[in-house]
Amino acid sequence: SMLNGDYGKEDKVLVSIRIRPTDNATAWDVASHTHPRTLKLQQQYSKSAAAQDFHFDEILTGSENKPVYNAVARSHVCAAMDGYNAVIFAYGQTASGKTFTLSGDEDQPGIIPRAMKDVFAYIRRTTNREYLLRCSYLEIYNEAIHDLLAPPSSSVSQPVQIQGTGPNIILTPLREEVVTSLKGVREVLQRGEGNRRTATTDWNERSSRSHSVFRLVIESRERGSGEDGTPSGRTTPGFRPPTPGGPRLQARGGRSVQTSVLSLIDLAGSEKATSDKERTREGKYINTSLLTLGSVISTLAENTAKGKSDHVPFRNSKLTRMLQPSLSGNARISVICTINPETSAIAESTSTLLFAQRIK
Ligand code: ADP
Ligand code: MG
Repeated sequence: SMLNGDYGKEDKVLVSIRIRPTDNATAWDVASHTHPRTLKLQQQYSKSAAAQDFHFDEILTGSENKPVYNAVARSHVCAAMDGYNAVIFAYGQTASGKTFTLSGDEDQPGIIPRAMKDVFAYIRRTTNREYLLRCSYLEIYNEAIHDLLAPPSSSVSQPVQIQGTGPNIILTPLREEVVTSLKGVREVLQRGEGNRRTATTDWNERSSRSHSVFRLVIESRERGSGEDGTPSGRTTPGFRPPTPGGPRLQARGGRSVQTSVLSLIDLAGSEKATSDKERTREGKYINTSLLTLGSVISTLAENTAKGKSDHVPFRNSKLTRMLQPSLSGNARISVICTINPETSAIAESTSTLLFAQRIK
């Protein structure tokens, strides 16, 4: 159960594949009875006889979001409640199911609403601690960070800056909304989506070309004599993520406050540039940030597995720079790679699988 702190896997990085359903012919064979699960390009589509088999801990099919949440997100949300930083990414080409997986719809709520439901359930059950939840919602477009919770005009005129060095960074100015209920979170998300749509002329284009980041800062402390009220009495000038190595305890007002961050990230489409415009500016930014993300995660995993301390290129993109405090140290990371199994998408799916294999 969540209260038992059962994180399932020892691996710091959980890499999974989600294959969206289709009515058309598919190009892949899935062997989900094997360990690890195997994904293979069907013989008739492979140009060489030595087409690669791909192996993953989880290969998820179908349009049910609950099993996806349980398999690749639930333990990370639990870890975040227990004081560890946790980051969940959806990676894949446009229309492969990233937003369906993370946000979902009315019928099939995705990881974000399910995570928030678990967070509030956890808080209700944990009667010996008091919690403060603050959420922020931002977008990275052309290497500029926009606060989706600020009114659209101000977010355009005033991009969010990353200040500080190493793991001690602040995002400023960035709105953080205190949330006390699922309804409150839903309102914050809707406001963010609304601002995002208002600020753009081509919504589909923009959403596939930008990373969107939902962050929940979780502060808690033991219930005590209550000499200085709840942690919410504090004012926060900027976003101050915790340092790595969680759970982190910090003395404040006599009782120690534990802080962690849960980040849920819908990445920009991983497809190759399709227009001249993209081949220039936007495409380069997206390629750089997704490549950097791959390097950062694989280097972190290597360093952990082999006890090495190779340089991690956090500074090569805004996304990884912003996530540095959350990714380093004792972070729990889950990367869900979504693919469209149709024959028309073989090239992009292969490229996604290679990314997934690289960070595993
Ligand atoms: P992306 O965010 O990667 O661009 P979307 O999540 O918007 O892709 O998915 C594109 C379309 O396919 C949406 O209409 C979505 O509802 C549908 N879809 C994606 N994945 C699934 C799935 N696993 N089951 C059912 N429908 C899906
Ligand atoms: Mg999307």
